[in-house]
Amino acid sequence: MLLDIVKYGDPVLRQKGERVEEVTPEIRQLINDMLETMREAHGIGLAAQQVGTALQLALVDVTGVEDRPSRMSLDGEPVNPEDYMPLILLNPEWTAVGDAKEDNGEGCLSFPEVYGEINRPEEIDVTATDENGESVAFRCGGLLARAIQHEWDHLHGILFIDRMDAIVKAQLKSEIDAIQAETKKTMS
Ligand code: ZN
Repeated sequence: MLLDIVKYGDPVLRQKGERVEEVTPEIRQLINDMLETMREAHGIGLAAQQVGTALQLALVDVTGVEDRPSRMSLDGEPVNPEDYMPLILLNPEWTAVGDAKEDNGEGCLSFPEVYGEINRPEEIDVTATDENGESVAFRCGGLLARAIQHEWDHLHGILFIDRMDAIVKAQLKSEIDAIQAETKKTMS
């Protein structure tokens, strides 16, 4: 079932997600609905907050993105990231590998048409629980690392505009304010 994607201005986007301790039938249904919703919207990531549910659950799928490479390795062995997509991440955590950071463009399904440069660690180690309740751990870089950090932020009520530098954010202010005003109008 397609879900409505929550836009900026809805308070649920500012809520920290509850941990998911068990993959219940309801959680499985939510995962399936979120996958369908993310694909329909041509997104590469979607957090539960973006469909109105404050849970530590996010999806990432970088399949088919050719201009922005992704890397992934398991136990030190490089793997093809596309073999592991979509990633279903419950209660994910990450740590930066080294000090390398990168500026790159980022968008968000909750901010239609807004696109800005964000500085983030280029390579990270990720741990999470998957859709079968199993622990997973991997290293990733490039677009995949960026997408996972963006989704982790959503799970903690943080939005990409919070991480934009002031000049970039000022340039986008009228677009951001317009989304917020539209959301408030539809909620009232
Ligand atoms: Zn987003």
